[in-house]
Amino acid sequence: AEAELIRIQRFESLAMLAGGLSHDLRNLLQPLLLAGDSLQDYQHDPRLARLGELVRDCGRRGLEMVQSMLSFARGAHRAEQVKVQALIDALSLLLQGSVPRGITLDIEVSDPQLTFEGNHTELQQCLLNLCLNAIQAMPSGGILRVVTSKSLLDAEFFLEHEDAQPGEYVRLSVTDSGQGMTDEVRKRLFEPFFTTKEGGTGLGLLSCRRIVYSHGGAMRMDTILGEGTCFDLYIPLARPAIEASTLVDGDTSLHGNA
Ligand code: ADP
Repeated sequence: AEAELIRIQRFESLAMLAGGLSHDLRNLLQPLLLAGDSLQDYQHDPRLARLGELVRDCGRRGLEMVQSMLSFARGAHRAEQVKVQALIDALSLLLQGSVPRGITLDIEVSDPQLTFEGNHTELQQCLLNLCLNAIQAMPSGGILRVVTSKSLLDAEFFLEHEDAQPGEYVRLSVTDSGQGMTDEVRKRLFEPFFTTKEGGTGLGLLSCRRIVYSHGGAMRMDTILGEGTCFDLYIPLARPAIEASTLVDGDTSLHGNA
């Protein structure tokens, strides 16, 4: 299980890097293509027109490469029917070996029959990331609570999560009774490579967010310093189309406006 985890984590980082890179590259290439187009219109100077053609062709090839990198980054996302119960079963199996003494694992699945379209492996990785963070936030013990439920989200919720749509969601929630976060940490949570841990990657939450967004979902976090932290993932039961622009782009907010 450990080797498999490392493999998934590596792939996740790679997909994330590819996603972020292609997003930035696309933004660079677009004006280049436009410039090539304008140069091509210089009919009275064939040399400039040829230069324009060259710029445009290279730009177009670059854009194609970027596009395939984007689909690789999203290719991690194979849609299948995900069973909430199966997700939680797999998670508790993975956690069994990693929950230290002094931490009580409390799992509650309120709607075990619930299924939705998504990617089992990615969401499992996402939940595992949140649980490992939670465990690390409770060095002197506490309660790790994982709760899943069906959740009807209204327009009010989405005032804060503009990319998602009101409707039926499955809520996957991970709560710890750990140290909580300072304002500083809370602000920088989703910065790539931001970590307060020795040997931390600072990619865990970013990768989580990428996965949630690629499911058309939303993420919410509550934390109280000294009392604990709660992460809620909301995954839509009926999936809207995926937008490439919601891929990682260094945006540090909780919602996906790229
Ligand atoms: P890493 O775990 O490698 O540091 P993450 O992106 O998962 O990377 O987390 C970034 C930082 O957010 C952590 O270093 C930690 O400071 C903070 N953090 C994440 N989850 C929690 C939590 N449950 N309680 C307190 N702090 C947390």
